[in-house]
This record gives sequence, structure tokens and C-alpha cells, in this order.
Amino acid sequence: MPYATNFDSTWCKQVSNSLLAWFAANRRDLPWRVHYRPYEVLVSEVMLQQTQMQRVVFYFTRFMTRFPTLQDLAQADLDEVLELWQGLGYYRRAKNLHSLARKIMADYDGKIPSSCETLQTLPGIGPYTAAAIAAIAFEAPCVGLDANVLRVLARLFDCEEDVSTTVGKKIMEDLALKLLPQGRACEYQQALMELGALICGRSPRCRQCPWETSCLSHAHGTVSQRPVKAQAVSRLVRYQMAGLVFDTQKRLLLCRQPDTGIWANLLTLPDCEATQDKLSCGHYQAFLAKKTGLLGKAQNWHLTLKHSYTKWQIFLQVWAYIVPQAKVSAPFVWVEPADFSRIPMPSPHRTALQRYLDNFSENIV
Ligand code: SF4
Repeated sequence: MPYATNFDSTWCKQVSNSLLAWFAANRRDLPWRVHYRPYEVLVSEVMLQQTQMQRVVFYFTRFMTRFPTLQDLAQADLDEVLELWQGLGYYRRAKNLHSLARKIMADYDGKIPSSCETLQTLPGIGPYTAAAIAAIAFEAPCVGLDANVLRVLARLFDCEEDVSTTVGKKIMEDLALKLLPQGRACEYQQALMELGALICGRSPRCRQCPWETSCLSHAHGTVSQRPVKAQAVSRLVRYQMAGLVFDTQKRLLLCRQPDTGIWANLLTLPDCEATQDKLSCGHYQAFLAKKTGLLGKAQNWHLTLKHSYTKWQIFLQVWAYIVPQAKVSAPFVWVEPADFSRIPMPSPHRTALQRYLDNFSENIV
């Protein structure tokens, strides 16, 4: 039996009522849970993609202060949006949010669509985010299945399917909809997410759970095996190099990325691919000379950072150089020291710059 089938409408009602009562008593106060305005729900859901709730609170509040309406966001420069996003990571979300605001102003008379299907046609809005926005902002009868929600439901129904697969997600969606209390999609969606975040996490606290007596995996002693995990995929290794290239005016050389790719539109340290045996000061110097004509004098400083992205495990080696003052052409630009902290940069590059400045700030500022 891949999942439980022995529940009736009375059981479903009991389960959803206990969840909503628990949520009413335990919900965290969050800035986007005050008015449930569609624009606020939209921004919060985009920020919450791949980011922890506590981190989002600060960024959300600041974003709303600067762009209180969808129209304000649509009229802003992308650079300003990226600047406010700095530190949240996954900058593509900021770019999508900006394009989405412009599209809604142009095509939907400034009104955020309420249907899950239409929301999914907007930039950066996938099935989960669309369903969550439709449920929370418009009480649409749908359920967004993020990792928290999938975990909780997989345990409640003791599901033996891998819920990261299309089949597993469809099973979970059907079951989640059976529990959905009519006209209360907003509370229900958030209650599921909150239960997953606060009670039914990696180490579930079943004694404090409103579903302790209903939960099938708890009854069957299979909680630790739910959700069923897909086989871990090992990451592919990549080696990259980047340079902190300063001129004698202490300006830093940056590179404007094109509008596609993981760092679309950001300013980054000039970087290049390498192989493990080519990670060297000389390899980067040759790259820099070829791309910009600049001949750098290496500083007695370098570091290697490890970070991962989707299927990649990346080893990034960063060296520092001083070069003579010279003009550079696009996509390269010189940035003044006073602007270092406000430039939106990918976090590994930001980390490298910060570590260098922590050691040698007297050289630069
Ligand atoms: S009883 Fe335990 S396993 Fe079941 S939903 Fe609650 S916390 Fe999760």
C-alpha cells in the first residue's frame, strides 16, 4: 500500500480542524502575515524560495519600505532592486520579480492574477509559488507543496512513495486537497508550512504535534523513514579562478554579467574556468591580460573557497593583483572603494573581497 486510503470526511475534518487550531495558537508573527496583500504575499513567497524565514524578515521589511507597491517596483531600476537583494543570494529571483512587476503593470492593469494557472506564466513563478500565492492572497482552493509541506504530509499519510517525484507529488497534492477546509486556504497553507517548520522537522516533536493521534507514520513507527528519500546524487566538481584586481587608485575591477546565467546582470570579480592543475597565479594573470590587456602584479595573498550550486561543487581560487591605471571596456568597469559595499555581488565573490579587506583595508580604504 503506497499510502493510506482509509480516511473519510470526518477524519479529514478532524485533522484539518486540529491543524488550524494549533496554527491559531502557535503562528509566528511575520510582516507579511499582517494584511495578506497580494503584493506582499508575492514578494515574501519569492524571497522565501531557498531562504530561511528568519533571514527573509529583514530583507522583506527593507524591500517594502523602498518599494511599497507593485508600481514602485516596476518603475525602479534593476540595479537598485539587485542592490536591495544583496545578501539574500539567488539573484535571479530579484530579476524575475522586477520583470514580473513590469509584466503585471503592462498586461494585467497592475493587478496580480488570482488564478494558480495564470500566476505560473509569470517570470520565476513555479507551481509551488503559484499555488501558495493563490491560496494565501486569494483563498483559491489549492495547496503549495514546498519541502516542509511534503515532509509533513508524507508522515501524516505514511507515504511510501518518494515525494520528490512527479508521482509522489501528485499523491501528496490529492491528499492535501482532501484536507483543505472550504474557504480557509490561506490559513491551511500557512499552517502546513508552519507545522513543518516548527514541529515536524528533521527531528519531529510528535508529543507537541496536533496530529499526534492522527499521524499514520507515528502510529506505524515509520516517522524516521518518512519522507522516503531519493538516492543522493553526488555533485560534479568544477574549478574556477577570480581576481581582486585593484589599480593604483585603489579602484576594483568588476565584470558586468550578461542577462542570462546564474549571476545575470550582477557585477562580479572577473573569473575564469580552470582545471585543478591550472589553479595558479600565472594562469589567472594570463587570463586577465588576454581579456583586458592589464598586466597585474600579484599580491602575497590568495584564498580558496568552496561553494555549491545546483549539481556543482565549485572550488574557487582568488588572487589579488595591483595593476597600473588604465581604461577598460565593457563588460569590465572600475568601481571606487566607496561603492564596494553597495555593489550587488555573488556571495563567494563578496566573501573573497571582504576577507581581503579584513586583512589589508589600510591599502584600500
Ligand atoms: S506526529 Fe510527528 S511525524 Fe506525525 S506529523 Fe506530527 S510531528 Fe510529524
